[in-house]
Amino acid sequence: MSNIIKDVDSKASEALFGALPDELKILMEGMGQKPYRAAQLANALYSQRVTDLDQVTVFPTALRGQLKEAGYRVGLPEIVQAARSVDGTERYLMRLSDGETVETVWMPDGDGGERGDGSEASLEEEEIEGLEGNVSEFSPEPGRKRDTRNMGALAWSGYRRATICISSQVGCAVNCQFCLTAKLGIKRNLTAGEIAGQVVAVLNRHGIKIGKDRINLVFMGMGEPFLNYESFIRSVTILSKHIGIPESRMTVSTSGIEPAIRRFAQEPIRPKLALSLNASNDRVREEVMPITRKWKIAELLEAVKTIPLSKREWVTFEYVLLGGVNDQPEHAREVLELLKGLRAKVNLIVWNPGPGIAYTQPQPEDVAVFQKMLIESGMPAYIRRPRGRDIYAACGQLKRTVESPEAALLVGIVPAASPSM
Ligand code: SAH
Ligand code: SF4
Repeated sequence: MSNIIKDVDSKASEALFGALPDELKILMEGMGQKPYRAAQLANALYSQRVTDLDQVTVFPTALRGQLKEAGYRVGLPEIVQAARSVDGTERYLMRLSDGETVETVWMPDGDGGERGDGSEASLEEEEIEGLEGNVSEFSPEPGRKRDTRNMGALAWSGYRRATICISSQVGCAVNCQFCLTAKLGIKRNLTAGEIAGQVVAVLNRHGIKIGKDRINLVFMGMGEPFLNYESFIRSVTILSKHIGIPESRMTVSTSGIEPAIRRFAQEPIRPKLALSLNASNDRVREEVMPITRKWKIAELLEAVKTIPLSKREWVTFEYVLLGGVNDQPEHAREVLELLKGLRAKVNLIVWNPGPGIAYTQPQPEDVAVFQKMLIESGMPAYIRRPRGRDIYAACGQLKRTVESPEAALLVGIVPAASPSM
């Protein structure tokens, strides 16, 4: 078997999905094929989004056989369980080649939902269209009529919009005290193919047409993308250049890995950045995010300042509100002080409870006061609506269902292919 793909993507040695066209070219040449076969294969993987080598019908059967014999396969993650929330959010358990699992979330808009997906792209588009603050009033593209017959089923005439939240690691090593994923510890990094492959598995499930439907991506599932930097950035290339989702519709969230933020700032193609601030001073942040011992808030902000922001870009600061811990007026004042002078906005996230985590949710009045204080001082601040809380799909709740059977029962997990979905 050729080592070409193996060298690049050692975790899924035979997976073709995730290979770049140049690598496919070397592979095909190694098999005695002409270079155009590589272009055909790239097209099959990334435009047609095939799930099996037998679907690469432009290849002669013998060539498909040759690839299979050499141990190659498409290698997309497989949706093995799906749960659907009352708000339309769907959570999937994806099985990887070695049997490990991660979770991926589909958040449709147009279901009367507000902005709740964490994506910056959707916000930007709404504002461009002059409809600030209320996605449920979202207008179809000019010249298209809004289809009101079947609003709950995403029936904008002609196209749909949705956000897909993807995982970057199996578990997470960062150990934030309020996060369920942290409880898993870290099992391994995902390959670029596994990161981008989650998106393709979901696009295929929903029959999404790239170029027609509007898809936002958020790297906000399980794991810390900046601790799996190479694969993360390679997945961005695959998703933007080859699958066709512009990087301006992607947002990556990091707990704050300072050297990686500086590196990210230099990338020619990169998503927008969201930094999980989650506290207004180092003392509180160390308590809730022990990683703060390594990089202080000031160091993170200095690194963020090196990002050359485009005209319509700003950095998002996520702030999980924990009752009595970081949700008081003095904290809001400190946040304002920290972010002074930055092209920033704040996403306030009401903490989602989880088993074995000893925080409490903030009082609704405290949330309202916090947001008001930020806004009145000129800092854009949004309260992120929890999506799919009933299926444990909301922020920080992506914990493998296989490890919490009681949650699976609770949410009525159904087989992925069920027609009732
Ligand atoms: N590891 C990255 C991305 C995944 S977590 C990061 O930490 O940024 C995505 C977001 O969910 C982060 O802003 C995190 O602070 C938030 N989060 C984690 N657990 C949460 C919980 N239980 N309730 C609400 N938000 C949570
Ligand atoms: Fe990891 Fe993000 Fe959870 Fe922290 S909040 S433990 S970085 S997934």
